[in-house]
Amino acid sequence: MFFQRTLKKEISCVGIGLHSGIRVKLVMKPAPAGHGLRLQRVDRGRVRAEIPALSDYVVDTSLATTLGIDEKNTIGTVEHLLSAFSGLGVDNALIEVHGPEVPIMDGSANPFVYLIKTAGIKRQVEPKRYLRMTGTVTVSDGDKWARLGPQPPSSDTSLSIISHISFDHPLIGSQSFHFSFSDVVYDRQISRARTFGFLHEVEWMKSRNLALGGSLDNAIVLDEYSILNDSGLRFPDEFARHKVLDCFGDVTLLGMPLIGVLEANKTGHALNHKLVQAVLANAEAWEPVTAAEWADGTLPPFTVPRLVMGESLF
Ligand SMILES: [Zn+2]
Repeated sequence: MFFQRTLKKEISCVGIGLHSGIRVKLVMKPAPAGHGLRLQRVDRGRVRAEIPALSDYVVDTSLATTLGIDEKNTIGTVEHLLSAFSGLGVDNALIEVHGPEVPIMDGSANPFVYLIKTAGIKRQVEPKRYLRMTGTVTVSDGDKWARLGPQPPSSDTSLSIISHISFDHPLIGSQSFHFSFSDVVYDRQISRARTFGFLHEVEWMKSRNLALGGSLDNAIVLDEYSILNDSGLRFPDEFARHKVLDCFGDVTLLGMPLIGVLEANKTGHALNHKLVQAVLANAEAWEPVTAAEWADGTLPPFTVPRLVMGESLF
């Protein structure tokens, strides 16, 4: 569990882009230790750009998180895919996106989790490198805030993500979800939570040529009083769980798996990005640690990340 992980083999899928509405092929490939998660924008079989999954490459956070090397060479809607990689503790992969954005699939991270599990998870020989919070960093925007701080020594998990949301809607209201990281818990409690939106927003976006691929197959859609999806919710608090999913995807852009406690109130991609940038700019609030350092006792013990799923696959 202390070693970097990648995919055992290549795997691909095809889906619809949420905003473009076009069919997009996604190919996920194994990558060497130290490679990190990198995305390639591919058009007509040609690699147009290779973009590391790092916060420096965020070019837009208005509707989803978009990465790019410039204005033309971008890949949109990366957050659910990155969340799946972090959720399963996979550090290294090369991800080809044959279009302008990652396909939305069913609006959750579960299809990506399924693909990663189907490809298999391979343990590499190099130890994992973590970003361990030692101080607290807070960002805010009006009544929205996000705070990332150290994990208490007594904790039984390496990473907690606590999300609070509040919507003036009878089916949402105020919800909180407390996620204690392990790959199995991520798979079961977080990955299936879908994105959501309100009918008037969807109509507004479609009138501006946005969310062209959006449908009840890839989002929970609410009108003033009810949910339009016939199948209802997957969890009563699916909304708060999806915010955890998004947040986990966005903090993947730190470039290292996190050891800490992240609490977020009413956040979205913009504030998540602001938090990641604030953490990276405040080097006194964290330290990079390798699994080898705590294994040989040079670091005080702290709760180790719980990655059990890949272990049984070796
Ligand atoms: Zn989302």
